[in-house]
Amino acid sequence: MNRKIILPSILAIVLLVAIIAAEQLLDGKTETKAYEQTVIAMDTVMTVKAYGENAEAGINLAIQEIMRLEKLLSTTMEESEIYKINHADGEPVKISEETARLIKEAIEISRLTDGALDITVYPIVLSWGFTGSEFRVPGDGEIKESLRLVDYKGIRIDGDSVTLNKGQMIDLGAIAKGYAADRVRDKLKEAGVDSALINLGGNILTMGDKPGNDSWSVGIKDPFSQDKLAGSVEIGEKAVVTSGNYERFFEQDGKRYWHIIDPKTGYPADNGVASVTIIADSSVYADALSTALFVMGPEEALRAYNNLGNFEYILITSAGETITSGNIEFVTK
Ligand code: FAD
Ligand code: MG
Repeated sequence: MNRKIILPSILAIVLLVAIIAAEQLLDGKTETKAYEQTVIAMDTVMTVKAYGENAEAGINLAIQEIMRLEKLLSTTMEESEIYKINHADGEPVKISEETARLIKEAIEISRLTDGALDITVYPIVLSWGFTGSEFRVPGDGEIKESLRLVDYKGIRIDGDSVTLNKGQMIDLGAIAKGYAADRVRDKLKEAGVDSALINLGGNILTMGDKPGNDSWSVGIKDPFSQDKLAGSVEIGEKAVVTSGNYERFFEQDGKRYWHIIDPKTGYPADNGVASVTIIADSSVYADALSTALFVMGPEEALRAYNNLGNFEYILITSAGETITSGNIEFVTK
C-alpha cells in the first residue's frame, strides 16, 4: 500500500500537547508588537499570532483553551467526554453544557444539510483507519454493517445527558477545530487583544484589522499541487475554512481514498469536489459547512448556499473548475 501521511505519526504521538515555538517579534511593516505561538494539538499544527501590547497574555490563554478543548472533545483521549459517550454502550452519559451545545449544533447542521454532515459517521471513519492513520480499504460487508449505525437522529440529548443507540459513536473532527478557533478568538478578546490571525490546522480565523490597515489575505491551496495556491481572498474579520481531498488520504492500487465520508454510502465522498472553502463570521459554522458541501457536490452546494445563507464559498471541482459564490472576490494570479 502506498501511504501518504501529512503529519508523521511520531509527531502526533510525541507532540500532542507540546509547544514547539513561541516568538516575540516586531511586525516588519508597522512596528506593531506581535507574538506568535505554534502547538501540535488535535493531530494538526496550530498557530496563533496576535498583535499589540496584550498579545503574549492573550496567546497564553488561547493555547490553554486549545488544550482544554482537545481534552474535552477528542475521540482518542480516554478522559474526554466524547470518549465516554462512545464507550457507554447505549447508556446515558452526563456531559458539560458546552459539549451538549456543540453536539446540538452539529445535529442542526446535519438537519439543514440533509445528513451530508453526520457526526455518527465515526464507525466508518475507524473502518478506513482515518483516525490514527492505519489506513485500509474495508470490505463492502463491513461498510454495510457500520452504515446501519450512521444516523444523527439516533443521538438523544436530555438536559445534561446524551444517549446514543447501542454501537453508535460520534466524532466532532469535522467541526471542533472550527469551534476551537471561535473560542480562541473569545480568549484573545478577553485578554484585550484586538488584532490576530488564528490558524488551527488550516481553519483560519482573523480578528480585527490587520496592523497597517491592510485587509487580511488568505491563500487557498491548489488541491492538485500541494505547494501552490489556487488563489487568495482579501477579507476583514472572518473565518476561512477548507475541506479537501488532499489533506488526509492514502492510495491503494492507483486509487486515492480520503477522509471525508459520504454518510449515505460509507465511502469517501466522491461527488465532484476536490476542495471547498467556506467564508463566514463563525468558524464552527464554516467548518461544519466545508465538510457538508464537500459531501454534497457542486449542485447541492449551490442549493445549500441559496437556502442557508450567512456564508460564501469557493469550490474547486475534481475537474479543476473553480466555482465561487456571488459575494466573494477570489484573486488568482
Ligand atoms: P473536515 O472536513 O473538517 O473533517 C473531516 C473529518 O470529520 C474526518 O477526518 C472525520 O473524522 C470526520 N468526518 C468525515 N466525514 C464526515 C461527515 N460526512 N460528517 C461528519 N464528520 C465527518 N486525528 C487523529 O488521527 N488522531 C487523533 O488523536 C486526533 N485527535 C483529534 C482531536 C480533536 C479534538 C479533533 C477536533 C480532531 C482530532 N483528530 C485526530 C483529527 C480529526 O480526526 C480529523 O482528521 C480532522 O479533524 C480533519 O479535519 P479537516 O479540517 O481536514 O476536515
Ligand atoms: Mg469541517
